[in-house]
Amino acid sequence: SPDTSAEGVTRYGLFIGNQQIAPIDGEYLDVVNPATGRVWAQVPDASAKDVDAAVDSARRAFDDGDWPAWRAADRAKFLIRFGEAIADNAEEIAQLQVNENGKLIREMAGQAKLMPEYFNYYAGLAQMPTGSTNPLHVRQMINYTVREPLGVVAAITPWNSPLLLLVWKLGPALAAGNTVIAKPSEVTPVSAIRFAELAAEAGLPPGVFNVVTGLGHPSGTTLTGHPGVDKIAFTGSTATGQAIASQAGKTLKRVSLELGGKSPNIVFDDADLDSALNGLVAGIFGASGQTCMAGSRILAQDSVYDRVAEELARRAEAIRVGDPQDPASEMGTIASRAQYDKVLSYIDVAKDDGARLVAGGGPARVEGLPDGLFLRPTVFADVTNEMRIAQEEVFGPIAALIRFTDEDEAVRIANDTQFGLAAGVWTGNVQRAHRVAGRLRAGTVWINNYRKTSYAAPFGGYKQSGLGRENGADALREYTEEKSVWVDT
Ligand code: NAD
Repeated sequence: SPDTSAEGVTRYGLFIGNQQIAPIDGEYLDVVNPATGRVWAQVPDASAKDVDAAVDSARRAFDDGDWPAWRAADRAKFLIRFGEAIADNAEEIAQLQVNENGKLIREMAGQAKLMPEYFNYYAGLAQMPTGSTNPLHVRQMINYTVREPLGVVAAITPWNSPLLLLVWKLGPALAAGNTVIAKPSEVTPVSAIRFAELAAEAGLPPGVFNVVTGLGHPSGTTLTGHPGVDKIAFTGSTATGQAIASQAGKTLKRVSLELGGKSPNIVFDDADLDSALNGLVAGIFGASGQTCMAGSRILAQDSVYDRVAEELARRAEAIRVGDPQDPASEMGTIASRAQYDKVLSYIDVAKDDGARLVAGGGPARVEGLPDGLFLRPTVFADVTNEMRIAQEEVFGPIAALIRFTDEDEAVRIANDTQFGLAAGVWTGNVQRAHRVAGRLRAGTVWINNYRKTSYAAPFGGYKQSGLGRENGADALREYTEEKSVWVDT
């Protein structure tokens, strides 16, 4: 169990074989609260040897055959119990994540409440028949298929929604009978360790769910190159996704990638402007803009462009940036110093490229938290789609407002990006809504709403926003192999 020092810094271990253990080389990383600037925890900086130990543990738990041989009904029962354990500890789980990434307690508590629903959903799917029997051209032969677990899954996750994005992987992976090694972001590692403890308490056998904490290199790269790992389920930046895909290719691991975005949120002049503006603001300033699906390119039609610019700026300035612990705050911090500096640098990039600053544009001061990584919600108008602020993912509270004339131009601009994660369409015209949704090259299209996700709705990217889908019934396929069996009768 973790040790807490006199300074209140808690030291955690790797979670392998249902217990916390110290790293072999004794190296640790600091975990910083971005609202206070204070180091509050330390986690192992896992070396290749530590990763080997975790893979060994997951490999054994899979190859011994105990967990994959559990009846689907028993795996389902475990998932439901795990969900109940999360519900019972929701406050602690939310709080740990706020300490890690400075998001609002409100938002993290909301996510914690949702997690049991994901496990319930995959508990149901675990028990659904999944094979097929197939008519053949060969007489006297029967062919049928069965879906079997893949083996050892490495789940590598980012810092923005640390546990929810892990749940998106754990639900289908465990439902299908795989064993898992989670490698959370070095910015947000503690919550994953606590999560694995809860899974063990809920009855998961040792080795089925392990956690290695550490940096992209060597912890992450050891997993992605490891011959004992069968699949990488990754959420993170497009650049890291590209590195992982090429490395995983050497051992032909299965790979699913949920990557970055530069999602267009398109307002037509026949939209209900007030609800569109609510959606635009939530789309880019929710979670301080640190979501893969952030509606970071706002496309507004000529005749409403000026009103959108003015009102967006007014609403951005009115957002209450404050202590993430305060339920009245509307925007918390940026998660890390490196990310904070990156976001700030994009304000200069946008100005240099000729965009017009209409709101925000720098750090925000929050009383009592002088070292907090707070930024003002920022809006740039008169952006053109070739500017870097329109093409590169910032992952922060910066909206880029772009003008368009007609539907064709809106679609052309919206699709003119390397990304294809999501898009929003605001219009009162039903035909236009469906027509434009059909023309957008994006994995998710929200019509007259934005930033909604559910366990039942597939989520993933077109183009360089990813590979494969999470959530929904088909996600289970991403964690299974299909075996084709022939029987001579
Ligand atoms: P990141 O790519 O820097 O890191 C993600 C994870 O990968 C971390 O755990 C990191 O330690 C690990 N990692 C880094 N280099 C690695 C390597 N070479 N091999 C193996 N693992 C490695 O991303 P981040 O900064 O933590 O998160 C922000 C990014 O995540 C944004 O680009 C955002 O769009 C994306 N994201 C996507 C989704 C989605 O569902 N599409 C959701 C949330 C975040």
